[in-house]
Amino acid sequence: MADITPMPLLTGRPAPPGGQFLPLFSTFVHPSAQQRVAEVLQTTFLSEGKLVKEFEARLASELGMVHPAALNSGTSALHLALEVAGIGPGDEVILAPQTFIASAITIVQVGAKPVFADIQYETGNIDPADIEHRITKCTKAIMAVHWGGYPCDMAEIQAIATRHGLIVIEDAAHSPGATYQGQPIGSIADFTCFSFQAIKHLTTGDGGALCARDPERAREVFRRRWFGIDRANSPMNEVGEREYDLTDVGYKYHLSDYAAALGLANLDGFDDRMAVRRARVAQYHAGLQNVPGLTHFTHQPDRESAHWLFGFHVENRLAFIRALKSKGVASSVVHDGIDHNTLFGGKRPELTRQRRFDNTQIHIPLHDALTAEQVDYVIDVINQGW
Ligand SMILES: *Cc1c(COP(=O)(O)O)cnc(C)c1O
Repeated sequence: MADITPMPLLTGRPAPPGGQFLPLFSTFVHPSAQQRVAEVLQTTFLSEGKLVKEFEARLASELGMVHPAALNSGTSALHLALEVAGIGPGDEVILAPQTFIASAITIVQVGAKPVFADIQYETGNIDPADIEHRITKCTKAIMAVHWGGYPCDMAEIQAIATRHGLIVIEDAAHSPGATYQGQPIGSIADFTCFSFQAIKHLTTGDGGALCARDPERAREVFRRRWFGIDRANSPMNEVGEREYDLTDVGYKYHLSDYAAALGLANLDGFDDRMAVRRARVAQYHAGLQNVPGLTHFTHQPDRESAHWLFGFHVENRLAFIRALKSKGVASSVVHDGIDHNTLFGGKRPELTRQRRFDNTQIHIPLHDALTAEQVDYVIDVINQGW
């Protein structure tokens, strides 16, 4: 992970506009958040309550998410999706290694095995053409990670899943606000998992959401995010205990009202923030058109990225990172292919595009505090070469 703390530059060095080191990420806190969170603290109703409901209602109405259940992290969303999908010991889930370990660790947590498919070198997303021959009688699901916010080839993935009776789970940690063939991410697959962690572009500090398209499964998500108790239908009896019968394992995965208050504040103007992100990305693209040694990721016109990251491929990457750093600009791979971890079985040399991606991918600053002048500066720095 990149250093997200802005640092003053040493004097005598060329400095970005503002004179501060340009970090890869910033954490966005809407100005109204102070007041909104303070109000929750004043009520002393801190845990899951009406603000969580209001947050979920706005995720649905403003971002097009279907049955969103607000949770305490994106990792909880992935774990609960796998649980509700009925995936367990002996099962296999196919995913791409280009992601954060949360995607695969939750598969291990439910007792299943992550099976890695290769990526498209041009996007970092799973290559649908590399999925089918990895399907065995143990395969239960495909997990599609939208790298950097750019949606995977969902139609192709869904077609494979339908052919083989598999569940599709989207790790959409990077992609609230993205669309695929006109549909919002969060409305397409069986399950979609979002993260509202601090450096993600819609944050509740820590938090997440799980969307289950099927209403029955969605009810199960809401029940099992809180121990497996159906909160809405378990009235208090006269002696002061909720009436319920626990039938399966649940978790303590719900979001809190004070976190929801931050999320509600950060939803204000979300579309405008996304429009600014798109403008910064367009500026980067225009300014980095013909840079020797730099190859852009590709984008299809049928989908809109959430632009959590701005990445591309570079030759001589270490020199690139050092050149940017010396001029006050952060750059980072963010994550290498996670398959190298011992827990996941160790590095797979046969995933040749992932291995190439590991060697050449790089990301430069893209966040809500980034100004157009700063983007121009980064463009200049890169055009000077490395
Ligand atoms: C951030 C992230 C997660 C986990 O989200 P948390 O909210 O931190 O638990 C999962 N998958 C990917 C790809 C992520 O980047």
